[in-house]
Amino acid sequence: MEPTLPCLNLRPGESDRIVAGHPWIYAGSISKTSIGPEDGSVVAVKDHRGRLIGSGFYNSRSKIRIRMLSPDVVAVDQAFFEARFTEALALRRRYLPEATSFRVVNAESDQLSGLIVDKYEDVLVVQTSSLGMDQRKPLIVAALQSLLAPRAIVERNDAAFRRFEGLEDANGPLAGSATGPIPVQLNGLQFEADPAQGHKTGLYLDQQANYRAVAELLQVRPGGRVLDAFCFQGGFALHAARAGAAQVLGIDQSEDAVRGASRLAQQNGLGERCTFEVANAFDWLKTQAAKPFADSPAFSPWDVVILDPPSFTRTRATVPDALRGYKEIHLRSLKLLRTGGLLVTFCCSHHVDAGTFLDVILSAAFDARRLLRRVAVFSQSPDHPVIPCIAETEYLKGFAFELVR
Ligand code: SAH
Repeated sequence: MEPTLPCLNLRPGESDRIVAGHPWIYAGSISKTSIGPEDGSVVAVKDHRGRLIGSGFYNSRSKIRIRMLSPDVVAVDQAFFEARFTEALALRRRYLPEATSFRVVNAESDQLSGLIVDKYEDVLVVQTSSLGMDQRKPLIVAALQSLLAPRAIVERNDAAFRRFEGLEDANGPLAGSATGPIPVQLNGLQFEADPAQGHKTGLYLDQQANYRAVAELLQVRPGGRVLDAFCFQGGFALHAARAGAAQVLGIDQSEDAVRGASRLAQQNGLGERCTFEVANAFDWLKTQAAKPFADSPAFSPWDVVILDPPSFTRTRATVPDALRGYKEIHLRSLKLLRTGGLLVTFCCSHHVDAGTFLDVILSAAFDARRLLRRVAVFSQSPDHPVIPCIAETEYLKGFAFELVR
């Protein structure tokens, strides 16, 4: 039987976006409250004519008043979560059949706004960023246990946007125990995830498919020198070394990241060909690009440059600054590469779309008088699915270019 739920109506013109599949309903879209729903509860949503368009979590403290869960009225119980997780797992098995560590649930991408679950081998890391999800952690944990039987489930709940929902920070075990970094296999290489301290929930899983794709590009040009700027644990660096690069240099401003990358290079038997350096990549590239060889591309020593910086902007307002940053690192990198070399570059800012990113790269190429041939286009790994009608689900884009001249 369908549960009886408090009901909210939308204003005229506000329902199409929701019917199309976008799950966020802002306060301004809601016309009247039939009963004052409790924060965190499930509400039914109707259009201005009173036709049901679905149900979702309500929170009066959040600008996003309702986060839709379904186009129907649903009971949000353990079975609901099991069904959604089963669907999400099947998707990962289809597109990342060999992966043992991956994002199991990517919020809006998996029709579970406010919930992220990452799998690091036999440990699961949960992030809840909406009140409705946060209140249902016990159901989520039970559903995950029944489907995946993990050694431990921990929560990593210190994301700033939890405050927009009235939620406090909460980090620690939800079930079982896992202390310290977890050894993780990505494409047969060993990495580490530290859910307590690492970036995101411990590792950049969104590049897993791109590590493979970039390694394939490098396999056909073995023996070169590869620069991995913004390397973190050396995700690209280690894949490049295994793909046959003669020499790989990784740069990161974080001492911890560089220490970790050096240790992992040794553990993977790639230590001889990999070096890691603590440096600000902007300064490092500037110094290198100013050296005399930079004026003569024939003497430029780098065969491959990989750029995977953090998001330079979290808001639309700071996009112009971000674009200046992107342009600068591309300009310098293009000066460091030999003709015939390869530039692999990523942008993880949601507010900078692929077209804008390409424009910046081309503007840098113009200034450096280099001609680019695009040889690959990248997106986020398939465990971070893109739902085109929810623009926020798409953030990572990348290209590989050969330098024609
Ligand atoms: N390529 C990595 C992920 C990079 S995330 C991977 O595949 O795992 C971005 C990294 O850039 C972080 O490790 C961060 O410490 C580093 N970083 C941020 N600003 C930097 C700067 N100005 N110079 C060098 N590294 C920087």
